[in-house]
Amino acid sequence: STRIVKDEAPVVEEFFGRRRELNLLSSVKEPVVVIYGMAGIGKTTLAAKAFPDALWYPVREGDSFEYFTWQLGLHLNRLGYRGLIEYLRTGNTEERELFEIALEGIDETGAVIVIDDFHRCRDERLGRFITFLAERMKRGKAVILSRERPKFGILGSFYLKLDGLDVESSYRLLKTKRGNVDVRDFAEIYRLTRGHPLALTLFSQAYPGRVETAAENFFEFLLEEVYSRLSDKEKFLLQVISLFEEPLEYGALKKLYGEKSLFPVLHSLLRKGLVERRGGVYFLHDLIRSFVERVGEVEGGEYYRKYVEYLMEKGEETAFISAFRYALMLGDEELIKRLVELRLRRFKGLVRSFKGPYLKVLSAGKGNPYVDLELGHLYFQNGFFEKALDIWLRVEGKVDGVFKADVLTSIADAYLEMNRLEEAEEYLKKSQEIAKASEDPEVKLWYYMTLTKFHYYKNEPEKAMESAFMELKILREIGGNPELEALVLLHIGDINSWMGKPKEALKYYSEAVDVARLHGIPFFENLAHMELAKVYYHLGDYEKAVEHSSKAAEYFKRMRNYRRAVDTLAYRCVSFIGSGELEKAEEDAGEMIRMGQGSNYPLAWAGYIFLAAVKNLKGEPWEEYLILGREKLRDNRHLYEAVLEELNQVFDVSAFG
Ligand code: ADP
Repeated sequence: STRIVKDEAPVVEEFFGRRRELNLLSSVKEPVVVIYGMAGIGKTTLAAKAFPDALWYPVREGDSFEYFTWQLGLHLNRLGYRGLIEYLRTGNTEERELFEIALEGIDETGAVIVIDDFHRCRDERLGRFITFLAERMKRGKAVILSRERPKFGILGSFYLKLDGLDVESSYRLLKTKRGNVDVRDFAEIYRLTRGHPLALTLFSQAYPGRVETAAENFFEFLLEEVYSRLSDKEKFLLQVISLFEEPLEYGALKKLYGEKSLFPVLHSLLRKGLVERRGGVYFLHDLIRSFVERVGEVEGGEYYRKYVEYLMEKGEETAFISAFRYALMLGDEELIKRLVELRLRRFKGLVRSFKGPYLKVLSAGKGNPYVDLELGHLYFQNGFFEKALDIWLRVEGKVDGVFKADVLTSIADAYLEMNRLEEAEEYLKKSQEIAKASEDPEVKLWYYMTLTKFHYYKNEPEKAMESAFMELKILREIGGNPELEALVLLHIGDINSWMGKPKEALKYYSEAVDVARLHGIPFFENLAHMELAKVYYHLGDYEKAVEHSSKAAEYFKRMRNYRRAVDTLAYRCVSFIGSGELEKAEEDAGEMIRMGQGSNYPLAWAGYIFLAAVKNLKGEPWEEYLILGREKLRDNRHLYEAVLEELNQVFDVSAFG
């Protein structure tokens, strides 16, 4: 895979001592393990040796808990547990729910998470989450590395303070890196370093030298010694790497340093212990990085630009987000424009699928019209239509070309969501002009997508259908956008069912299922299952209705998407009534009611009404359930009537009086 491997444990090639610690770590019963000690003492190395398959999460200044949960979600997804990442993608972030889903995922996969540099963490939720895990986790493990001793309580946490290596291991480390070391010198080196492995590594490069002067300003002295002995090429490569906070892939180093002589220079720095490798990526220890930064003369700009190019060529969502971060750091307007255009064309779904990480990066660029355009999309995705509209109206006059086309349809879309149809139409006209004049199929596509929605809101099914087919046609010509294709197929299904053409609706919903399944888009796949269930119910095919609603219900429950789960359960419940499976119908009704108690989603109270119907059919007392249902839906007359109407297909509601 070519993704940026930031989340793998470092590879440990040379490892000395620590037998006692390794034994301890392999037999620890507590789910949370805390390893603490000073910088360079060997926390990362020890944890990597003990937990080579862990998810590696280095805390960076300014990282939020959301960012962490996204990384965890992606990792669990790779291990086969999809729940967390899908939960995040639906936009839910209720703390307790999030904790519980994450816990479920960790326990189900037996994942090990290492949180490195925990002392940098400023978001209290991460600490709370670890405490939560400590008290409940069964199979997984969380390993926390920190310079200071953090407090997660006593229950479920094991604390290990790390000191230097023992005499023998220190000697072996020095000898391996340096060859022969005079025994008297070694005694002095050990006295000074007390087995601190990074200090020993540096000594091995500064030796032989004036050991005794090292007493003060220990690292500074060592680093200067070591640095001054490097070749110009080695210094240069170190400086380039030090510009980046994140670990770099070999390919990136080639782009940054140039292909020629990279390998031997990198190899030599690795051997000297100045550069470290983790998975396929290279980085510097904090202490070394800050030293090199201080003595460095290389300006970042040129290299950040090269790195952005490298990331853009990768054509991946995570690389794209990373590239955006550097473009903002550079404040390079052209680069920012290119990136936003790339997002609009190639990564449409990113504002949904990587909402958290993208928002984090964009917040650094507020005020730039292209960044604001993107922030608008994120607000919109989160349902803040007014906020999105505000920001887009301000952006409108500041951008041209594809950006203008996007902002106009986006504004129309926001007006539609807010039910302001006249303003929506006005902006749709503006966007039509651009679409007509443009050769760009995507610009046309955006226009038709909004137009379809407009006709939908205006209650004009024929026109909506015509426009939706234009969307599908353009989409298939452009190719490579299964997520949008699935969505458009769903819309065509909706319009057909709205026009009273159930057979046609079934056809398009089924196509949506196929496209979504083929490309691994479970949310749309299950949305389509839910729609299929509805249509089959109306056709009186209760067996098929149950089949499809069962798939969708199971999925939405797992996602804690209670609204959709209730919608789906409602159709399954009435389908069970239709096929005379009263016990199962009763179970579903009960489950709807329980979800109502948790979520207060009004349709859930239809569970009482369905329960009344079931009890009535079974010849049991039913009246009190109907009273409860009516009571709960008292302020929702419309909904109450719609529920009765749906139910009437399988149960004579006149029995309710
Ligand atoms: P920390 O995470 O505590 O800051 P690291 O684990 O990064 O420290 O270790 C600092 C340096 O010392 C690294 O270059 C690492 O390779 C080396 N090192 C640490 N522990 C050992 C060990 N047990 N054997 C060999 N080298 C080690």
